[in-house]
Amino acid sequence: MTTIKDHLLLRISERESEMLEFLRRLIQVPTPNPPGDTTAAMDLVSQFLSQRGIPYEIVEPNQGMPNLIAVLSGGSDGPRLVLNGHLDVFPAGDLNRWSHDPWAAIQADGCIYGRGASDMKSGTTALLFAFAELHAIRQHLRGSLVLTVVSDEETFGPWGAQYLVEHRKEVLGNCLLSAEPTSPYALRFGEKGRLWVKIRVRTPGAHGAYVHMSPNPIAIAADLIARLRSLEEIRSSAETPLTVTLQKNAATIDKAYGRGASEIISSTTVNVGVIKGGVKINMVPSDCEFEVDIRTPPDVPHLKVMERLKEIVAVFPEAEFEVLDQNAASTSSPDHPMVQALIQNAKQLSDIEPKPIIALGGCDARLWRYAGIPAFVYGPSPTGMAAADELVRVDEFLHVAKTHALAVFDYLSN
Ligand SMILES: [Zn+2]
Repeated sequence: MTTIKDHLLLRISERESEMLEFLRRLIQVPTPNPPGDTTAAMDLVSQFLSQRGIPYEIVEPNQGMPNLIAVLSGGSDGPRLVLNGHLDVFPAGDLNRWSHDPWAAIQADGCIYGRGASDMKSGTTALLFAFAELHAIRQHLRGSLVLTVVSDEETFGPWGAQYLVEHRKEVLGNCLLSAEPTSPYALRFGEKGRLWVKIRVRTPGAHGAYVHMSPNPIAIAADLIARLRSLEEIRSSAETPLTVTLQKNAATIDKAYGRGASEIISSTTVNVGVIKGGVKINMVPSDCEFEVDIRTPPDVPHLKVMERLKEIVAVFPEAEFEVLDQNAASTSSPDHPMVQALIQNAKQLSDIEPKPIIALGGCDARLWRYAGIPAFVYGPSPTGMAAADELVRVDEFLHVAKTHALAVFDYLSN
């Protein structure tokens, strides 16, 4: 007997080539952020929904950064689930480093190449098609399903999901599902925190031969940077359920993020991303400043890191620091029914059993977690993300699209 779920899978399978074609067209509309203009890409999404007679609303608090909300109501009461994807992408960077034009969406070797292929135009396409197919069978669902397609994600900007979460509370719901890249072998229930600081070292400066007249701020910065490494000793406590889960899934973490990732996932990390100082070889500079990207594991409060940072900076009277930006780490329960739904359907579809882990970086899902809503992420591999030759494997893309549609069905029909 064919069930409604079988019918749903059949409908999605029949649309594989249509999904691929839509993804390619979406990549062919460049949406690099900055500047983050997604108008033309959003037109494709809204045309898609209009053609299927599915109502939606555009919310555009900042011109050129539209967000879309579509809602479907099931045949009976139940939870509200939210699907969230973004349309903006990283800039393409140095075009000479790409084997294919980043905006051509070339299909070759079982992959689609292009900026946004993995982060996350494939994920957004998967959610869009899942939403449309679930809309067609909505009378068989309970509760409601919300689709949000947003702008302004890649720069942690305020005009996308953050705006919706703050001003349109109907997008919060009871659970959030995103298709940001994770790899089919991993699903994410949380992410590390981010603390960005700028440190500035100032001295009187002098002629390069008169080094007795002034300390050198670049040399002080070098000493200070060496001492910042001690921040990496601030780790998650070893006994928490979170740390135990991450240790158990260390192999998956290395597979998803590269070897060594399981070592740093539970520790604070430090990256000096920018340094500026000095004018001329024969001058003792008077100024050196650098920016530090600190990432914190979920159970390490930023206050603790800040205290250690203050102690380190205080060793150098010429130095001062300011916080540029920060986001706290966030986690949801890995025992949530949505996690089970994703694992079971991935297994049935492709014999892949994704393991629950957390993200090293950040994505919009944290905004829902901050509001107390469980939020989960499952998407294709992050190959070439924020680098050259970004791609998505066609089989992974289709696997993710089907897994999402079926997991949503389970969540809204049990
Ligand atoms: Zn993303």
